[in-house]
Amino acid sequence: MGKASESQGAGAVTRVKFWGVRGSVPTPGPGTLHYGGNTSCVEVRAGDQILILDAGTGLRLLGRQLASEFNGQPLDLTLLLTHTHWDHIQGLPFFLPVHQPHNHLRILGYEGARMGLDNVLTNQMESPFFPIGLREVAGNVQIEELKDLSFTVGAVRVQAWFANHPGICAGYRLFAPGGSLAFFPDNESHSGHSHSADAPKAGSAAAQDFARSEDAKLANFLRGADMLIMDAQYSREEYQQHIGWGHGCLDEVVALAIQAEVKRLFLFHHDPDHDDATIDRMVEHARRLVMERKSTLQVEAAREGGTVELP
Ligand SMILES: [Zn+2]
Ligand SMILES: [Zn+2]
Repeated sequence: MGKASESQGAGAVTRVKFWGVRGSVPTPGPGTLHYGGNTSCVEVRAGDQILILDAGTGLRLLGRQLASEFNGQPLDLTLLLTHTHWDHIQGLPFFLPVHQPHNHLRILGYEGARMGLDNVLTNQMESPFFPIGLREVAGNVQIEELKDLSFTVGAVRVQAWFANHPGICAGYRLFAPGGSLAFFPDNESHSGHSHSADAPKAGSAAAQDFARSEDAKLANFLRGADMLIMDAQYSREEYQQHIGWGHGCLDEVVALAIQAEVKRLFLFHHDPDHDDATIDRMVEHARRLVMERKSTLQVEAAREGGTVELP
């Protein structure tokens, strides 16, 4: 089975690597060299498992790395998709391991809009869009639409929670040897704007109660995570112009992480218009908020190529 290399062993260390940290659309250029311009993709090596969180354009670089590292040995990979917006699936056609016959890729996710996950992923590779269909690639690709909110991938226990984002979008918490991490690349607080069909009419007292209750449930879901990777696309000022877009406001994300007693927060889904200097300023702002709250939360911005070891 294609697994992490011997040196990873089945020990207690879980290694997380960022391959794409940008939101919405890839943003190459001199202003994004430090944090990177590829969209959502994170690799998690836990025990003998290789899990991939999202298939944004960063997935292409991960594919090249896996192909050279495993050099012909079969790979057995699990891809967890949060949702099927372009910035979370566009790397899949360019993922080298699916074009090699000895590899197996299991894709797990929840319903893709009205058409089902399988159709959405297959459609993006149909002939007007791409020359090779997902059904015709050389590798073995298996798409499974999830029904349950908890499942396991090898020794990793996974729990899902629906994010507050237009359409169906999941976030995941992975309980791996050595620690746990949570991944919410696209999420807005309910107190900002509720995307749920169950939400009472906006502006009513019932809507406020609903929002408070939903936000508290998310804090419980994240409680005590060693690492939280979360959508913090907008500053507080920018958020006022983007209420209802489905993305996070930095100040609220920091408050949530403190409330949930998370250990390390990684700002993620960087805005395409934010250059490296802007993201640096957002990190400084977040750290000031943490100091004011006398919290021990550590805040960083996710950076393409950056690695984190748990615990
Ligand atoms: Zn996104
Ligand atoms: Zn999205």
